[in-house]
Amino acid sequence: PYNGPLADEIFEKRKKFLGPSLFYHFQKPLNIVEGKMQYLFDESGKRYLDAFAGIVTVSCGHCHPDILNAVFEQSKLLQHTTTIYLHHAIAEYAEALASKMPGNLKVVYFVNSGSEANELAMMMARLHTGNLSMISLRNAYHGGSANTIGLTALRTWKYPIPEGEIHHVMNPDPYRGIFGSDGAAYARDVQEHIDYGTSGNVAGFIAETVQGVGGAVELAPGYLKHVYDIVHKAGGVCIADEVQSGFGRMGSHYWGFETQGVIPDIVTMAKGIGNGLPLGAVVTTPEIASALTQRIQFNTFGGNPVCSAAGLAVLKVLDKEKRQVHCANVGAHLLGRLRSLQQRYDLIGDVRGRGLMIGVEFVTDRKEKTPAKAETNVLFEKMRELGVLVGKGGMHANIFRIKPPMCFSKDDADFLADALDHALTKL
Ligand code: PMP
Repeated sequence: PYNGPLADEIFEKRKKFLGPSLFYHFQKPLNIVEGKMQYLFDESGKRYLDAFAGIVTVSCGHCHPDILNAVFEQSKLLQHTTTIYLHHAIAEYAEALASKMPGNLKVVYFVNSGSEANELAMMMARLHTGNLSMISLRNAYHGGSANTIGLTALRTWKYPIPEGEIHHVMNPDPYRGIFGSDGAAYARDVQEHIDYGTSGNVAGFIAETVQGVGGAVELAPGYLKHVYDIVHKAGGVCIADEVQSGFGRMGSHYWGFETQGVIPDIVTMAKGIGNGLPLGAVVTTPEIASALTQRIQFNTFGGNPVCSAAGLAVLKVLDKEKRQVHCANVGAHLLGRLRSLQQRYDLIGDVRGRGLMIGVEFVTDRKEKTPAKAETNVLFEKMRELGVLVGKGGMHANIFRIKPPMCFSKDDADFLADALDHALTKL
């Protein structure tokens, strides 16, 4: 049993000693003290089914024994020196990660977070092309650091600071976008934006293939293929942010961008890449990487032995446990269950996603698609009471984000769907 401080005491300390902009998810803050695979336990020992994986951070499962072992074995020998010296863990891990990438994406940089990965990717794009303008999508989340906050286009996360040459184009959102699922039509907006809104030359384009924070929004089919052509013609490079969608979670593919049949010039990763350890990566081609040889690109903790050992163990576990096909099967089952709820409850406006990256959007009026903000909040609290943790997302916080650790089973999916069914009847 847990003997540590309880929620109220921690909350008081947090209010006193931590930044006031920290937000917490539930009316009564949750004190999680232990995790095991797809389950979390609070201070009272109550078990929760974790369908949010610490915002998609835990890929293999909480405290997965293979990852723990890799971290422990490496920590006993050596925790950190610097990449100025050689270490086998970083080299082996880079080789293994590169082997998961298509095309000529063979050069890896390790960093500590998603924001850092996108900062580096944006700098590479600008140095390689000699252009400044970056294009990203409305409803995107790419980070909260000074530059990536500019790429992010969700009001909740944006502080009014200078952003410098970042353009936000129309979101190819099949549910809410004005062109529906017509990827080519949204791509024409990118061309027009380049023609009218920039000098005509751009540094790059960045997108999540499935928008995470924005509420599990899959980009309209064919969109990236058209946009990549347009951006390349304007002199830019194309960046895929795989921080949430990578590593087999899509089920049908290992990487999100593969669902759109494209190969990016730069790919950024974080979160699930380390199963909870602070790790991020940027993978690019030797040609683009050479743009960074004019100076030294250095990151103290990027690729340290412990995180490299963990990252390598993650790749091995996901392969050994065949998680990609598992995500496809369990995801299809869960989507089916959620779609049958949608037929029974008008409040569910949209059920979408792929593999274990699923969104359920609640609306009070299906035709107008009016966000059901208050109802979503009530359901969210009710799910917690029933022992299921989901995420909330989208501009109006009216979307459930369901992105569990990849070990989530069919029984777990049924439990989640039953809990949502029950919560909806109580509304
Ligand atoms: N990209 C995406 C798609 C993300 O979801 C996030 C985090 N929510 C980031 C980048 C930034 O990652 P971090 O918080 O590790 O900086």
